[in-house]
Amino acid sequence: MTAAPDDRQSVEQAAFFYRGPSQVIADGVVFLPSFGTCTAFLCDDRILLVDTTVAQVAPRALDDLRSNHSQAPIETIVYTHGHIDHTTGAETFLADAQARGHPRPRILAHRDLPARFDRYRLLAPQNDFINRVQFNLPETAHPFSNANLVYPDDVYSEALVTTVGGERFELYHARGETDDETWVWCPARRVLCTGDTFVWSSPNAGNPYKVQRYALEWAQALQAMAALRPLHLLPGHGPALSGEDRIQDALLTTAAFLRSIHDQVVAKMNEGKWLEDILREIDYPPTDKPWLRPIYDHPEFIARNVYRLYGGWYNGDPADILPAHSGDIARELVGVCGAEPLLARARALRDAGDLQIACHIADFVRKGDPDNRDAWLLWRDLFTARIGQETSLMARGAFHSAVREAEARLKELGG
Ligand SMILES: [Zn+2]
Repeated sequence: MTAAPDDRQSVEQAAFFYRGPSQVIADGVVFLPSFGTCTAFLCDDRILLVDTTVAQVAPRALDDLRSNHSQAPIETIVYTHGHIDHTTGAETFLADAQARGHPRPRILAHRDLPARFDRYRLLAPQNDFINRVQFNLPETAHPFSNANLVYPDDVYSEALVTTVGGERFELYHARGETDDETWVWCPARRVLCTGDTFVWSSPNAGNPYKVQRYALEWAQALQAMAALRPLHLLPGHGPALSGEDRIQDALLTTAAFLRSIHDQVVAKMNEGKWLEDILREIDYPPTDKPWLRPIYDHPEFIARNVYRLYGGWYNGDPADILPAHSGDIARELVGVCGAEPLLARARALRDAGDLQIACHIADFVRKGDPDNRDAWLLWRDLFTARIGQETSLMARGAFHSAVREAEARLKELGG
């Protein structure tokens, strides 16, 4: 299949925005590489569909399937997890069944998936907001408020065997990116559908904007997948991967990457260390494989999430257990030091290449002296520079939001 691209731009494109025509991966296995992907298993005169992609893309995927591959009824749809880029296309496939006079497809998922949908409904405006930050989307984007969530018809707990057109499919649950994950194994064709357990980037096991992820169980799931020795791996995002040895390498190096971060965080927690020291001391494993590049999540975020899973939120600084607001602290500091010396020091740090500390110093001034134009100008320039240096899309999302806020403040302040 598609060779692993080697520069950042093309990896990003392949991993997250790849939409190609359908591909026949093995006999009767149609891969629809959308955002996220769908896979149709043609089984005699029936279809099993793994994931439904996102609502906006689903009509194209359906049209491709129907025009180029099969008119058969979709008997079963499996959701690999509840994320909207994998589930909101369901209505398109259900409408197709109705229009063709086919029986309604049965939707299968893990038992924790409906609770996820309930939470998306409860927190739709918050999820809209946080997705606009994470993905640098315009104010008009409301992906969760506009989502049509089709709940599964049947759920299972640990594993489920289902047959479609006489063919056996094995569904396995594992917690990883989400708590409601399913990966699908088709033993007769040795095809593995990983869902987002494999997405051609450093695992999304640390997302700073979202709920808990599960690095260790994720690693264990990857090892369980590898033990089946798949011939084809169909990921939740990005191109298919074929070849037994390449797949072993991809699954097992990803598992080792997650385990390394997990085990180091646990060891340092057991030494009585606080999070910021753990983050600084970790020997992060290499990310030089095409499927481990930190283009989406970031290894440091994964370490934070391991700590969050096992520990509390207290950071070890007694001033922070019942803290003042950061704006009040900044006002005091600016009152004592003056805005100008702080900004001068931040510029000097920037010029010396230390954008990280420069941002912290500038942060005191933009909070402690919110009408200071120079502080906002520097804030904007610092994060514009960091956007250019950072590979992690999630980190860049926060940097973009800093630039947007600075531009809005500068407009308000005029001059
Ligand atoms: Zn996804």
